[in-house]
Amino acid sequence: AKQSGSSRFKVYDESCQQNFARRLYIESELRYALERGQFTLFYQPQFDLRLNRVVGVEALIRWQHPEMGFVPPMEFIPIAEQMELIHAIGYWVAEEAISQAARWHRQGVQLRMGINLSARQFSDERLADKLGRMLKKAGLPTEYLDVEITESVAMESPERVLQLLAKLQEQGVKVAIDDFGTGYSSLEYLQKFDVEFIKIDQAFVRNLLGNKADQGIVKAVLGIAESLEMRVIAEGVESAEELELLRALGCDEIQGYYISRPLPPAEIEPIIEGYNQD
Ligand code: C2E
Ligand code: CA
Ligand code: CA
Ligand code: CA
Repeated sequence: AKQSGSSRFKVYDESCQQNFARRLYIESELRYALERGQFTLFYQPQFDLRLNRVVGVEALIRWQHPEMGFVPPMEFIPIAEQMELIHAIGYWVAEEAISQAARWHRQGVQLRMGINLSARQFSDERLADKLGRMLKKAGLPTEYLDVEITESVAMESPERVLQLLAKLQEQGVKVAIDDFGTGYSSLEYLQKFDVEFIKIDQAFVRNLLGNKADQGIVKAVLGIAESLEMRVIAEGVESAEELELLRALGCDEIQGYYISRPLPPAEIEPIIEGYNQD
């Protein structure tokens, strides 16, 4: 028993050391990822259930490293936040996504562009102004940009978030509360935020068909959104059945693998064209 105990510790110890080594490696490489051009953006369609058209996309960052290969954003974004690299990365994402949206606009494809903002970016007082300048430079009408902030970030420092949201909305930028249902929203703040979109987290969509409790939550969110005049985007829709149920419940838009996985611009274009031709 003693032996198996110590070998178990050894295994634990090794994987712990490996995790630590990977973390250190990511930290050292993340510093150069931007200048080395290792980031790209993938885009995932947002499909309007009433218009039956793709009306927007969400930009999702991808890091392709020569040694590690693809490093998922869930792994490196929190590290980038701690290292304060998130500001530079966040501005790169905004600039790239806005230019892409502007390019599509010039080609007659008017899509809303959603970008993710992380917690740290909210402490940056120039954020709203900078985004405004980027939009102007690219020639994209401001109402086509939509920034996604997670419910937990919004509720962590609601007063600060309120200030930034006011500045963004003054410029005409739209705002979405991301991962809704996973944090602890006060309905009072939800009303104060006065955002355009609520995104229902994929955790509630995953078992929607078989799970009455999840259906109840989705119905409740749709009810709240309706009374606050917010639109609801359901995330993580992977089947026609889920799409139809969400349509029947009155959900406004969906996003998920059923419509398309996130893809680079050249690959997403024909997919969007396929949905939007009439
Ligand atoms: P998120 O904002 O909630 O993005 C949705 C995630 O769900 C994406 O993962 C997307 O690929 C995935 N997804 C979409 N449809 C489906 C589906 O039908 N089924 C399943 N199982 N998953 C689906 P991804 O791209 O790995 O991003 C993970 C998270 O990383 C994002 O969650 C977001 O919090 C963060 N992130 C991604 N890009 C950025 C960025 O540019 N800036 C910041 N600050 N965070 C980002
Ligand atoms: Ca998001
Ligand atoms: Ca989300
Ligand atoms: Ca999520």
